Amino acid sequence: IPLSELCGRVLAEDVHAPFNVPGHDNSAMDGFACRAADLSAEKESVLRIVGDAFAGSPFVGAFQSGECVKIMTGAVLPPQADIVIPKEETHSAGEGMVAISPRPRKAGMNTRQAGEDLRRGEAALTRGVLMGPAEVGLLGSLGFAEAKARRKLRVAHFSTGDELRTAGETLKEGEVYDSNRRTIGAMLSRMGVEAMDLGIVRDDRAVLASAFDRAAEWADAIITSGGASVGEADFIREVLAERGEALFWKVAMRPGRPLAYGKVRGADFFGLPGNPVSVMVCFCQFVRAALWKRAGRVGGEEVPMFAATAAEDLRKAPGRMEFQRGILSRNESGEWEARSTGDQGSGILSSMTRANCFIVLEEERGKVKAGEKILVQPFEGIL
Ligand code: AMP
Ligand code: MG
Repeated sequence: IPLSELCGRVLAEDVHAPFNVPGHDNSAMDGFACRAADLSAEKESVLRIVGDAFAGSPFVGAFQSGECVKIMTGAVLPPQADIVIPKEETHSAGEGMVAISPRPRKAGMNTRQAGEDLRRGEAALTRGVLMGPAEVGLLGSLGFAEAKARRKLRVAHFSTGDELRTAGETLKEGEVYDSNRRTIGAMLSRMGVEAMDLGIVRDDRAVLASAFDRAAEWADAIITSGGASVGEADFIREVLAERGEALFWKVAMRPGRPLAYGKVRGADFFGLPGNPVSVMVCFCQFVRAALWKRAGRVGGEEVPMFAATAAEDLRKAPGRMEFQRGILSRNESGEWEARSTGDQGSGILSSMTRANCFIVLEEERGKVKAGEKILVQPFEGIL
């Protein structure tokens, strides 16, 4: 894959540095390259300027004690020099002469050593890393134009429910527009997978079964929403058991309890609940990490959590882990604190648009008092 298309892909090979980075000792500042032994810490040192060194155009020749070379950032350090004095610590001492202000200095200051970033042969990147701008840039610095990447994961998804309609259709009483397919499509697009939208599927065992089969023919993973609970039109688990294998169902969490997981032939199957907030919580807590693993990513699959302070009392009953919609912000004393977006119903999708984090409350925890420590999971860029 060319570098220009590599961002967001999982690297499929270890990449070793073909040479030292940087390739030569060089200057970290604009200034003067000289010998530390020629400088005094007590009085000004005056040196003769015998040449200059630019990035890409080194000083050729040698200099003696009492001499120096004018040098720019990134220019190769002349072999006789062991220190660079920033321009700001000098002033002119007449034609071709520079005065260096007195101060304690050590050899090596303001220089970069050959190989200090990467040694020749060292692994610059290892397989499984998710390529971001820094990784792409690093490959560029090593002179590569392309790298091997894992193929994009194929994820098929569909919504289930007889009440669901799509944009352009008029709603009859009790019908709703399908939002989950839009949310899931958008979350998948942020992960850079190849997504296939199979539309809305009716609450009908035979129709569901054929959707499962179609999805499994192509996909590495299948995501559905709705029909995973215990209602009389909830057939996801039955069809999963019939067309594949139901591996677990129901998690002690809120929202998102009816989450179903299994396999359909080679594909991972995630039966998400129908409520729009549950969909996002389950995706964030389970599906995302599983997709990353399946895509070959090593490290960074999990969404990190941090400790913060509760800015207000929070309602919570022991028994299930909760992912409440929270607003994380900094208070006047500089501390990060989170408050609730308000009503925590799992159907209230607007609560997700107001939130910037999940407030994660442990299974056994009860009511939370303002000022207590809580865990937060910021989801900017993820959800
Ligand atoms: P279910 O899990 O199928 O019982 O659905 C639970 C709730 O989520 C019901 O109120 C559904 O109407 C709603 N729901 C299910 N699927 C969707 C969807 N794709 N878009 C919006 N709401 C949905
Ligand atoms: Mg339903």
